[in-house]
Amino acid sequence: MRRWLFADQLGPHFLDSTDQPVLLVESKAVFRRRAFHRQKAHLVLSALRHRAAELGDQALHLRTETYREALTQVREPLDACHPTSRAARRLLSTTDVTVHDPRGFVTTPTQFTAWADGRRRLRLEDFYRHCRVLHDVLMDGDEPAGGRWNLDTDNREPPPAAGRLDVAEPPIPVEDDIDAQVRADLDRWQDEGITFTGRDGPRLFPVTHAEAAARLRHFVTHRLPVFGPYEDAMLAGDPWLAHSMLSAPLNLGLLDPIDAVHRAEAAYRAGRAPLASAEGFIRQIIGWRDYIWHLYWHLGEHYPASNKLAARRALPRWFADLDADAVQARCLSDVLAGVRDRGWVHHIPRLMVLGNYALQRGWQPAQLADWFHRNFVDGYEWVMTANVVGMSQYADAGVITTKPYAAGGAYLNRMSDYCGGCPYDPRHRLGDDACPYTAGYWAFLHRNRQRLHGNIRLTQPLRQLDRLADLDAVVEQERHRGSRAP
Ligand SMILES: Cc1cc2nc3c(=O)[nH]c(=O)nc-3n(C[C@H](O)[C@H](O)[C@H](O)COP(=O)(O)OP(=O)(O)OC[C@H]3O[C@@H](n4cnc5c(N)ncnc54)[C@H](O)[C@@H]3O)c2cc1C
Repeated sequence: MRRWLFADQLGPHFLDSTDQPVLLVESKAVFRRRAFHRQKAHLVLSALRHRAAELGDQALHLRTETYREALTQVREPLDACHPTSRAARRLLSTTDVTVHDPRGFVTTPTQFTAWADGRRRLRLEDFYRHCRVLHDVLMDGDEPAGGRWNLDTDNREPPPAAGRLDVAEPPIPVEDDIDAQVRADLDRWQDEGITFTGRDGPRLFPVTHAEAAARLRHFVTHRLPVFGPYEDAMLAGDPWLAHSMLSAPLNLGLLDPIDAVHRAEAAYRAGRAPLASAEGFIRQIIGWRDYIWHLYWHLGEHYPASNKLAARRALPRWFADLDADAVQARCLSDVLAGVRDRGWVHHIPRLMVLGNYALQRGWQPAQLADWFHRNFVDGYEWVMTANVVGMSQYADAGVITTKPYAAGGAYLNRMSDYCGGCPYDPRHRLGDDACPYTAGYWAFLHRNRQRLHGNIRLTQPLRQLDRLADLDAVVEQERHRGSRAP
């Protein structure tokens, strides 16, 4: 049967045999409906076209306005692996396409449901440990390798004083004729009125299985050993630090995630990477990535609209348009520029600079999730929902995380080198140089005092809030600052 591969199912593990006939569809309507980052559009089209070129006559490659239009041109039975969005699943349910179990994740839906059934709380840490045992990863018999399940406390080093991490740069792919064609097509589409966000730039992420496998091998050999300690650090002059930059190829389906896990474990077993780094990386993949994927389906179709903190403000123009130059606060300006110029920043800028700022100001979680989805090269609905609505905006009031990821300037000062040279002072909550994060933190707690009351992890900060003599002035100052770029 001909296998319909969606644009995020492009690796060899989405086929049953190397000679299986394939359908690949490039739908232009996807780009007409919403403004995606230009580099994301490039990546998706380039990956799809590279796969078509690799498969040659084995693939029927259709370029149509919609998927439905493409299906009218196919005269033979089709099957597909379960898609990654509700919209695509709905589409498939109205066709004759046979749908198989999802691929591209480590744990199957049946295994997740067996774990989740009857649990009061679906904690990441419990799921992660269950997966370690289930897939026999980093286990010495019945015990976790090294005697500990989670070495996160070893992985919170502040950034190195040198301002850069002394680690090999990740290999950047070399663009080819297919990329040139994609760039020319996107230029033409723009002339026709299709809009994109962000700036175009050299392709930074893999688009073939071979490129992705090369990045994984390079990461495990050269970067994994220092991945752990500096996982949470941010540096103005070093956006990558030792992160793997594998989320985009993983989410395009170019790599099988269990392969990444096995390679990281092998490096640890061979003494080439410390346990804290290997465990930290493996937890991101079989823990976080799979957990977020299963929660997308498990939490249901109404979850993305959760808004338990009643956050109703619209995203301001400067943020929506990635206007980093309008922002004075050094951390936010640099991170927003990273999104504009690359469509990628690592986890902590997403959570503690972008998400934290939005959370403090009460921006609508669904709008923010849409913004992340469109502007990040690795953004897809399944991965956005729990990460943005749940983890970063606490809009589910504690399903994913036990307390909101709200933090003042002191955290940013400890974990980055942004505060030196910033016009704002992380210690000040009042006055012209009041750090927007420090002032925003107290204004956030004040606004949500009743909603957060009773959260044990917030008892101390809420007590501190009661003792702030200048709280009224801080709240008034933040009201006055409004949605202006800080
Ligand atoms: C607000 C917010 C939005 C996010 N949006 C996305 C997104 O659109 N797409 C995306 O893939 N990740 C997203 N993440 C998770 C994480 O930030 C990125 O996966 C990571 O920064 C990608 O860079 P990397 O490949 O160098 O990751 P590394 O730090 O090297 O981590 C290794 C891998 O672990 C996986 N991973 C780690 N954390 C998560 C997580 N929370 N959810 C899913 N996978 C995870 C990724 O596949 C990643 O490649 C988001 C996190 C937050 C807080």
